[in-house]
Amino acid sequence: MTQQASKKTRTRFAPSPTGFIHLGNIRSALYPWAFARATGGIFILRIEDTDVERSSQAAVDVIIEGMRWLGLDYDEGPFYQMQRMDRYKAVLAELQAAGHVYPCYMSVAELDALREQQMAAKEKPRYDGTWRPEPGKTLPPVPAGVQPVLRFKNPQGGSVVWDDKVKGRIEISNDELDDLVIARPDGTPTYNFCVVVDDMDMAITHVIRGDDHVNNTPRQINIFRALGKAVPVYAHLPTVLNEQGEKMSKRNGAKAVTQYAVEGYLPDAMVNYLARLGWSHGDDEIFSREQFLQWFNLDHLGKSAAQFDEAKLRWVNAQHLKATADEKLAELVQPFLTALGVTGWDAARLARGCGLFKDRCSTLVDLAGWLQLLVTGGQASSADVSTHVTEAVRPALAKLAVALGRCEWNKAAIAAAIKQVLVESGLKMPQLAMPVRVLVMGTPQTPSLDAILELMTREDVMARLKID
Ligand code: GLU
Repeated sequence: MTQQASKKTRTRFAPSPTGFIHLGNIRSALYPWAFARATGGIFILRIEDTDVERSSQAAVDVIIEGMRWLGLDYDEGPFYQMQRMDRYKAVLAELQAAGHVYPCYMSVAELDALREQQMAAKEKPRYDGTWRPEPGKTLPPVPAGVQPVLRFKNPQGGSVVWDDKVKGRIEISNDELDDLVIARPDGTPTYNFCVVVDDMDMAITHVIRGDDHVNNTPRQINIFRALGKAVPVYAHLPTVLNEQGEKMSKRNGAKAVTQYAVEGYLPDAMVNYLARLGWSHGDDEIFSREQFLQWFNLDHLGKSAAQFDEAKLRWVNAQHLKATADEKLAELVQPFLTALGVTGWDAARLARGCGLFKDRCSTLVDLAGWLQLLVTGGQASSADVSTHVTEAVRPALAKLAVALGRCEWNKAAIAAAIKQVLVESGLKMPQLAMPVRVLVMGTPQTPSLDAILELMTREDVMARLKID
């Protein structure tokens, strides 16, 4: 067994709470969560809130609520970077004591001038090492009254290599990396340094994150090495594009994850859909959470950007709705009914209603809409009324109202009453069923007549069948 395989997996999701988390972001939680669960490991939530101006508690709440809704449970955390500043400063001091860090007094104006000069010479802008101490080198005189930044002494020569689980082997020459600022003039550590300290302290074995961070990785690896720590395995996930093919972002209309709960999506369907946005298991499109966890590994992560497709999400949700037990759906649809003001269902009747309509629905909102029609009746279009509720069928409708007024109120008795009216009036089932559906539900497209009538009260049916 390799050393890596013998270690317990520890993964993390490290969002910055600078906006409401959308589907593209939460996929970066799903994979590390799934990998931890699939390997019996630990999943950690870390909130990267050092951008104080742009971070908000409301955004943290959406992250936590979205993860709770999707069932992406974490074993440790949430840890907040702002609460770990003392720790970062202590590690910074260690690194400084070991000679990996040096103060740099270059002013912003000097840095700008350097950049312009390099651009004019068609060179890549980079810090030129003016303040980097070297044996035998004389540093410029320290300017008075200037608080220096601290820079990390990046190794010179050689390269940083890692075997990315998505992108394959990546090699970056150290000559491309300048000496990174790891502490600001006020002593606060910068982003890349905090990430390394956290990943080190949290003993992260696998960093699974968006590929917008791939440029940070060689710098982070060099800091790990300077600290004498093992470097985690990296997997950089390709971007999620929106339906227009742009990078998904709240600026171009991406919805907060929690909005999908409001729109009646099922957590397992979302997990299924998100899983397929960048990972595959053969041709399987519909799978349960358990199957996903059984199958998930880092070997089948996709290399190209995935594109969000709402129609497909609805289809996936419809498949999960259909596969969900009626009793479970009854629980899930309850809040949607309450929101519509439709109350007072007994659990068994609600479950039967769910069973009857679930095949016709893409979301819980659709399902609640159908169930509402049972209770309130529906407003039929005048076209449906004139097509189906004809003069010819009226006598039969009156007979049906009488028969339904007398029979027992269960599906078999209602079916028998309908049958009796058909025999007496010489009509075929659709000739009677269509007008009844239009009158009781407002639409000719419903499941079988006896099944829907049984779910209504006798009084409602009688009232809706009354025509003048
Ligand atoms: N905080 C970063 C982000 O929200 C993620 C950093 C990481 O995963 O290393 O994009």
